[in-house]
Amino acid sequence: MRDLQAGPGFPWGTIRGMHLREPILILGAGLMGRLLAVTLARAGHPVRIVDPAPDAAQAGGAARIAAAMLAPLAESAVTEPNVVAMGRYALPRWQALCADLTQPVFFQQNGTLILWHRQDAPQATRFEALLRHTTAQLPDLPAPRALDAQGVAELEPAVAGRFQRGLFLPDEGQLDNRQLLDALLATLTALGVDMNWGTAMTLQQACSWQRDHPDGWVLDCRGLGAREDWPAQIAKGKGPLRGVRGEVARLHAPDVTLQRPTRLLHPRYPIYIAPKPGHLFVIGATQIESDDLSPTSVRSTLELLSAAYAVHPGFGEARVLELCAQCRPTLPDNLPAVVERAPRVLQINGLYRHGFMISPAVHDAVVEYLHSGRIDLAQRLGLAFTRAQDAMPASMP
Ligand SMILES: Cc1cc2nc3c(=O)[nH]c(=O)nc-3n(C[C@H](O)[C@H](O)[C@H](O)COP(=O)(O)OP(=O)(O)OC[C@H]3O[C@@H](n4cnc5c(N)ncnc54)[C@H](O)[C@@H]3O)c2cc1C
Repeated sequence: MRDLQAGPGFPWGTIRGMHLREPILILGAGLMGRLLAVTLARAGHPVRIVDPAPDAAQAGGAARIAAAMLAPLAESAVTEPNVVAMGRYALPRWQALCADLTQPVFFQQNGTLILWHRQDAPQATRFEALLRHTTAQLPDLPAPRALDAQGVAELEPAVAGRFQRGLFLPDEGQLDNRQLLDALLATLTALGVDMNWGTAMTLQQACSWQRDHPDGWVLDCRGLGAREDWPAQIAKGKGPLRGVRGEVARLHAPDVTLQRPTRLLHPRYPIYIAPKPGHLFVIGATQIESDDLSPTSVRSTLELLSAAYAVHPGFGEARVLELCAQCRPTLPDNLPAVVERAPRVLQINGLYRHGFMISPAVHDAVVEYLHSGRIDLAQRLGLAFTRAQDAMPASMP
């Protein structure tokens, strides 16, 4: 078994050689479930994962559909400074986490390009002002760089001549979500983790498993699947859980080469083009207040594909590989939270549209609590973390 090697920013240093024996039951083999399972199995815990998906290829919930952009500054226009700080913390942690997996994962930190059409210039002015406000508050974030037509052409030659102005956000990243899910699964298999497909569990069922394993931990990472077990009274401002629908198109476009994720400002929602290896592009994403998991609508498909075509006509000859819809698991304040519903029963949820951007921070905070009982990192990053001793009695399952 390989030792758990802490990466940059890991809160308690290296726990090399640590072999812990408390069994862990993880509900959900999506993003959080797999990340935590790898770390905990590597530290020596016997880990069991359950997921209702019939097999690994169909599992992963929102994580399978996401564009997996790691863009704390771009997202600061729509989120709070603590989420931005978690995103900033997570970038070097992703490099360390990916480097430790048994299969390679495409990870890139080549910045984000923001573009807009002339008629959306007032919106661009507002957007830039929001980003400058963020970098004034969080000075360790690199400031956005304003680009003229020549600057856009030099940075991203494929869109030369089509945009008069742009903004470059240095240092932002992205990864390939499906490669990551596959690499986490391969690592879990190599570590001998007990994976159970076709198995849905409620929190109550997990608590009865815990009665047979009194030293065990339950980690509820079911995303939107935890809705019934995330009531309004769980913790102040932290329930109920809801879905925010997002639709994406996955395209193969051999005629298009982009060096980095490109966002097009749009009056209804920002549209992005995230280039993955092999001329694969994820075009997304709508943002609709709804739990609807039905297929992508015609209207959304038209908007996403026309935005891509407006950025680069080479998308005209692209092949549509998939049109997908999923819901982002979201709490009322749109912020993530960890709640200990009963001693050693942790619910981890509310990652909303920032799961990839912040999950290393949430992961490190949970592992710190499991191994030391401390929540220093959560407090430092402003992650809401309610321990059993602080929980509202009515919230117990
Ligand atoms: C269209 C779209 C685009 C996105 N783009 C980005 C992006 O660019 N950057 C970013 O940072 N984030 C993005 N996200 C958000 C990100 O995908 C989520 O925040 C993240 O996947 C949430 O992780 P999770 O582990 O909590 O839930 P999920 O990844 O949804 O995993 C939940 C898992 O729990 C399982 N499950 C459900 N019910 C049960 C049950 N009863 N028992 C056991 N298991 C169960 C599910 O099958 C699933 O495998 C996007 C999301 C969407 C929908």
